[in-house]
Amino acid sequence: MQLTIEPIGIVHSPYKQKFGIPRQPGLVTHASGVIEILGKYNRPEAFEGIEQYSHLWLEFYFHQTADKEWKPSVRPPRLGGNKKIGCFATRSNFRPNNIGLSVVQFKGLEIKQGQVKLHIAAHDLLDQTPILDIKPYIPYSDALPQANAGIFEQAPETTLSVELSSTVESKLVHLENRYPNLTEFIYQVLAQDPRPAYMKAKANRDDFSIQLYDLDIKWRVQDKQILVTDIISV
Ligand code: SAM
Repeated sequence: MQLTIEPIGIVHSPYKQKFGIPRQPGLVTHASGVIEILGKYNRPEAFEGIEQYSHLWLEFYFHQTADKEWKPSVRPPRLGGNKKIGCFATRSNFRPNNIGLSVVQFKGLEIKQGQVKLHIAAHDLLDQTPILDIKPYIPYSDALPQANAGIFEQAPETTLSVELSSTVESKLVHLENRYPNLTEFIYQVLAQDPRPAYMKAKANRDDFSIQLYDLDIKWRVQDKQILVTDIISV
């Protein structure tokens, strides 16, 4: 059987590269985004009633890794990146059909000159991610607090505190006008410690950078805390 699927929408996200995106939704609440509905799916009546929901399920396509073969066994970061586990026991993006699933905050519907847009937050989606479907989150059946969550029993720890250099502090004063809550957004992204597992294990003073919006956020780990050293417009 062959299936043909086409995206119903595309995500506009401040996450411009995979590095730094949280591994699940809900971890970085200041990550905002917009889903632009495409082509024949851009029908306002298809979204009537959606505003009564606070959260939505998004099914999406891992477009940036879709050219890579799926891996039956993967090494999830949650296991320190060195133990293997089956693909279907993880949320790895290297999977058959490259389909991702995230529950996100729904902030509102916008319809301007016939263009439907959905405002979302607390997501884990790369810019330009194709959206395959949208469904309301229904707590009575979707929220299962007693479920066994295996290796995901605990939410990831945010072990490192984040400090800003004086250069960054003064740049943020202006940047906050363009990107409200940018400071909190940077704090939340970096507190997840985006470094790959093998780098966390060794002491290092490497410089890293993460792109959020059109900004290159430069940082390093120093004395068990993250120091944001500069922010540069790209
Ligand atoms: N919540 C989803 C799920 O469980 O199916 C995604 C989980 S996956 C572990 C999350 C990671 O996917 C993010 O940290 C980011 O690096 C990556 N990602 C997000 N959007 C992507 C895209 N469009 N293409 C490829 N990778 C993407």
